[in-house]
Amino acid sequence: MRCVLVGPPGAGKGTQAQFLAAHYSIPHISTGDIFRANLKAGTELGIQAKGFMDRGELVPDSVTNDMVKDRLTHDDAVNGFLLDGFPRNVAQAEVLRSILADKKTPLHAVLEFSLPDEDIIARLLQRAEIEKREDDKEDVIKRRLEVYAEQTAPIISFYRNEGLLISISAVGTIEEITANAIAALSRVAQ
Ligand code: AMP
Repeated sequence: MRCVLVGPPGAGKGTQAQFLAAHYSIPHISTGDIFRANLKAGTELGIQAKGFMDRGELVPDSVTNDMVKDRLTHDDAVNGFLLDGFPRNVAQAEVLRSILADKKTPLHAVLEFSLPDEDIIARLLQRAEIEKREDDKEDVIKRRLEVYAEQTAPIISFYRNEGLLISISAVGTIEEITANAIAALSRVAQ
């Protein structure tokens, strides 16, 4: 199963990705997690990403695309992967399509988690309390939502046009959403 998860910050993509990755025995590849791990370890990549992350902006494509391209060559991704947080704009979606076309391993699906606007902020503020993420402060949250609407939301029509988009609601219990996601994905691949 080669799948991209998309949805606004706070839609629960990360949580669902963990369950789905376990279900399909494939890696959960979260670009945000990779950036955070690099930040923590003080690597060059982490240093490059930090300012953008702190402001809620996208890390430049030149950095992000190479990082994902490299990650997809790891052995654990040969049978598939769940990408969470990438692509974040149409240019990244085009790069992903070309990386996968070169390997002759196109995506099976793009799973969109949809959530009403009013639920998004509430969930992000709740997560801020629990995870104490640096970028879950109110002004940064606001900026991340703007960036999502301006830069990331257009990938939804991109993937709809490619015939890959599957949308499910991100409202419900974690178990219900996972079950809906698996039911939806089972129609396109194993
Ligand atoms: P996330 O954990 O997916 O919410 O990502 C946290 C932050 O990491 C984002 O606000 C961006 O600054 C950065 N980031 C994650 N994925 C990407 C990406 N695909 N392109 C650019 N920046 C990204």
